[in-house]
Amino acid sequence: MIFRGKQLIFRQMTQVLTITQLGNPILQQKAAAIDNFLDSDCQNLIDSLITTVQAAHGVGIAAPQVARSLRLFIVASHPNPRYPDAPMMPPTAVINPRILRVSEEMVKGWEGCLSVPNWRGFVPRHQWIEVAYYDRNGREIRQVFRDFVARIFQHEYDHLEGILFLDRLASPADLYSEEEYQKISNIAEYKR
Ligand SMILES: [Zn+2]
Repeated sequence: MIFRGKQLIFRQMTQVLTITQLGNPILQQKAAAIDNFLDSDCQNLIDSLITTVQAAHGVGIAAPQVARSLRLFIVASHPNPRYPDAPMMPPTAVINPRILRVSEEMVKGWEGCLSVPNWRGFVPRHQWIEVAYYDRNGREIRQVFRDFVARIFQHEYDHLEGILFLDRLASPADLYSEEEYQKISNIAEYKR
């Protein structure tokens, strides 16, 4: 993996955190803005979230998923066993994000969640979003994300609002067990 060198350095200081599971009330809470994101508590949390999401083969994780109700998440898209077609990008910390504009076009795509293990949903999301957030160095970033990375961003942003992908399903018929999802995941019409 491309990030292994960096990851090993971080791992000396960080730990894999326990992931909050469905039913824990913190997953339904609106998370609080972070004031001092340059302090060591926040920086250590960022490193531990990156270590945790990589260990779990996730492409994103939000602070409420490790029982910290703060407006912080990691987007870490890369191809892995859970998402073989994910684009490669370095793990990116997103702090106090805002969604400024969204596409009218909605696209359905498959999502899972580390807090909802063994389930996948076919979830409608905006095809693109324009966002603003602070990076871990305190710089304000404005960016447009499209397609799968826009999907990750919307999923993780929802965690800060206490919303799970289950809440976004257009129909209960769009919820699949991991086993049933694996049966259909190679069918072209679903690979969007
Ligand atoms: Zn999630």
